Amino acid sequence: MDIKIAVVPGDGIGPDIVTEAKLVLDKIGEKYGHSFAYTEVLAGGAALDAVGEPLPAKTLEVCKGSDAVLLGAVGGPKWDDLEGSMRPEQALLGLRAGLGLYANLRPAILYKQLIDACPLRADIIGDGLDICVVRELTGGIYFGERGTEELPSGAKAYDTMMYTYPEVKRIAVLAFEIAMKRDKKVMSVDKANILDSSRLWRATVEEVAKDYPEVTLNHMYVDNAAMQLVRDPHQFDVIVTSNMFGDILSDEASMITGSIGMLPSASLGEGSFGLYEPVHGSAPDIAGMDKANPIATILSVAMMLRYTFGLTAEADDIEKAVDNALANDYRTGDIMSEGMKLIGTSEMGKLILESL
Ligand code: NAD
Repeated sequence: MDIKIAVVPGDGIGPDIVTEAKLVLDKIGEKYGHSFAYTEVLAGGAALDAVGEPLPAKTLEVCKGSDAVLLGAVGGPKWDDLEGSMRPEQALLGLRAGLGLYANLRPAILYKQLIDACPLRADIIGDGLDICVVRELTGGIYFGERGTEELPSGAKAYDTMMYTYPEVKRIAVLAFEIAMKRDKKVMSVDKANILDSSRLWRATVEEVAKDYPEVTLNHMYVDNAAMQLVRDPHQFDVIVTSNMFGDILSDEASMITGSIGMLPSASLGEGSFGLYEPVHGSAPDIAGMDKANPIATILSVAMMLRYTFGLTAEADDIEKAVDNALANDYRTGDIMSEGMKLIGTSEMGKLILESL
């Protein structure tokens, strides 16, 4: 395949980790006969410094003209005092909206080699964990009507949670499609005992489920889901939920893995287009010091190959190479434990390349 990728290194450790992920893609290209053409563009603090805005029009244009986007991370203390619309993180919202990315996929995988990093008891976690949270990204309360009114008794503020049938249907279809490639279990999380938008959510998910008779569908209220994730995480395979509930639950699920430097994510739009990035931020405290764990970004490109290009063998290959590096006791600082071998960003990248 000839593949065009827009690359947004961003700020802090962004450039360090994106460099390693590109090397991995190049190696995959060599091994399987694909060619990857990269166009590097600016966003976040780097764009503010260069052109005075967090998301230049050219960046969005290049991303739209590509088959997929690889993003490092944006933000840092240098730009923390800027007002809202000029903050580096605005670039993320602008990219999601501008690229029509309506679904966020966050796998929470706990590798058996990193089980000590998990804050849950060993008998709860067993020999690892693999949950995929599918979060709706462009609807719900974060995008509903909102306002603040000054009243004689003090201010009043409101936000509206609203969903339409097509919005719920497309995210439900995606969740069932993903479940078909995994353990064929979907847990739909809502608050249907109270919210009308959740009742529409539940009815729509049930309708979509009829097209996937092999998949087991269950429903759970969001408060119970937050509890069950730490009580018995193994009951979950794919979790599908709304924007705000997914925001909270995906962070909870990733905390269970205890290693933010390991977690990839995908934001998908119509067709097979997607933006792929690590879950963590720009880690300014270790930027440029060869200390960042590149694995979250490397696993993000594995997701890109799997979800945007349908290259399953190539994605499996990358995941296996990451597994090998861990099995041979190599660790970056964030996942270091006693008796393991401490290495830096480029060394970890090199080991993964060698394993490929
Ligand atoms: P962070 O994820 O950047 O860092 C939290 C802690 O985890 C730090 O100690 C950091 O050193 C460590 N860490 C993170 N990723 C790591 C990696 N790959 N390897 C080793 N250690 C790693 O979160 P933060 O400190 O809250 O935010 C820093 C900046 O990143 C802020 O400006 C924030 O707005 C931004 N941010 C950006 C994104 C994004 O671009 N998607 C997401 C979250 C935060």
